Amino acid sequence: MSQQVTEQVHGHYIGGEWTDGGGDGGDTFESENPATGETLATFQRGTEADVDAALAAAEDAQEEWRSLSYIDRAEYLWDIYHELRDRHEELGEIVTKECGKEISEGKADVTEAWHMVEWAAGNARHPHGDVVPSEVAGKDSYMRRKPRGVVGCITPWNFPVAIPFWHMAIALVEGNTVVWKPAEQTPWCGQVIAEMFEDAGIPEGVFNMVQGFGDAGAAITDDERVDTVLFTGSAEVGHEIAGKVGGETGKLAACEMGGKNGIVVTEAADMDVAVHSAVMSSFKTTGQRCVSSERLIVHEDVYDEFTERFVDIAEDVAVGDPLDEDTFMGPAIEADHVEKIRQHNELAREEGANVLVDRFELEDEEIPEGHANGHWVGPFVYEIDYESDLRCLNEECFGPHVALIEYSGDIEDAVEIHNDTPYGLAGAIISEDYRQLNYFRDRADLGLAYANLPCIGAEVQLPFGGVKKSGNGYPSAREAIEAVTERTAWTMNNSKDIE
Ligand code: NAD
Repeated sequence: MSQQVTEQVHGHYIGGEWTDGGGDGGDTFESENPATGETLATFQRGTEADVDAALAAAEDAQEEWRSLSYIDRAEYLWDIYHELRDRHEELGEIVTKECGKEISEGKADVTEAWHMVEWAAGNARHPHGDVVPSEVAGKDSYMRRKPRGVVGCITPWNFPVAIPFWHMAIALVEGNTVVWKPAEQTPWCGQVIAEMFEDAGIPEGVFNMVQGFGDAGAAITDDERVDTVLFTGSAEVGHEIAGKVGGETGKLAACEMGGKNGIVVTEAADMDVAVHSAVMSSFKTTGQRCVSSERLIVHEDVYDEFTERFVDIAEDVAVGDPLDEDTFMGPAIEADHVEKIRQHNELAREEGANVLVDRFELEDEEIPEGHANGHWVGPFVYEIDYESDLRCLNEECFGPHVALIEYSGDIEDAVEIHNDTPYGLAGAIISEDYRQLNYFRDRADLGLAYANLPCIGAEVQLPFGGVKKSGNGYPSAREAIEAVTERTAWTMNNSKDIE
């Protein structure tokens, strides 16, 4: 499927075959362009029966796939790596059309995907492990990694190409077979990724894709044939999955979830760096990144200057057609999400916010021509006196909604406020004082911490994940290897001693 909008109903990819999209009279759903409200394409909605077929195919393919060498498995991924690179522009546009990220971010989503594929496939050429001398003379011991078996991958819409590859590339190279459900908002990206696996000639059943909603996701996570669940998405769904999985089955769930991320700007901050970092972290991707910041915790000595400069930019930031290179922020993903953002803005008002910027409803002239049916929202910036139990400072909005909190005292006071949320995904400190930086690194409750940088960006060779309510286990990037393999401690007797 290229960039053309088609009439055809697109099916699932199961056991090396495309299911007949519309032929069985099953339910369908549509992919929508959030900037225009137009339908992009129609897809079959996955049922328990589709998931059942996909899991059966994945189970059947397991033995042959795990028996291949690392290098042979990685070869299929190298083909996909080249296709991601060759089709960078085209795929970046598809991402932008389907999830509304401005075009440079749409392309960056594809870049992140090939970084992951490169890392995972590259591992096949430099595998590493533990060889540890036995505590007993005459014995050798080492740790052997083995695939867990069938891996179920459930992914969100906001990185519709990168996150699926962040899950699947490692799972596959390590010898697992995969059943993947793309987010219901981004099935077109799902279709294109499945076509790439088909083009790469991956053996049938090794990679399977079922389109659909949460019920199809639950059919995957609940099935006992699944050995590991890799989930990235909201805390609500992630904790539900984590609660169900495990127990006596030995199934494992690695879940990456949301955050209520904060940036600390101390009195020792460079103001240019502080303002730039806050703008990028709060408004890029229309605030719809798991790492977006919704709390700016600013020292009283620099509060007025920072606030004035940040507000000036928030008043002005270009919201518009995400395919236009001058756009800074595209639309929200869907109508329901616009409503959710509105409710968060209202909640902040009810809890005593002093609203400094309210561009939630854009002026008519701000909406690009031909885009009246898009899901437009603009920045909402407010200042509020910090209180521990304010819901607006504790609940993820996932939009361009940001609180300014003034603090006095030292870095310890800032970090106390910073840590006062149930989440712990990503955060940043802006300061030129190394003691403050080190304190933040060691004491902020975070999986991802940035210094003098926007709190966005990810590196595949590092762990990517959160603490507290933001994560349990790592479904993506380097640490995912732990979730998709099991370890055997192998001890071998090399002597005639039978003790
Ligand atoms: P979501 O939780 O609504 O959906 C994520 C996926 O789970 C979708 O594919 C959905 O169909 C599926 N799903 C829904 N209910 C399910 C169920 N009961 N069982 C199994 N699967 C189910 O999240 P979303 O709206 O797609 O994404 C936004 C959220 O994702 C935000 O909270 C954001 O912070 C988070 N996110 C986190 C990271 C991270 O790495 N920490 C990255 C991106 C997004």
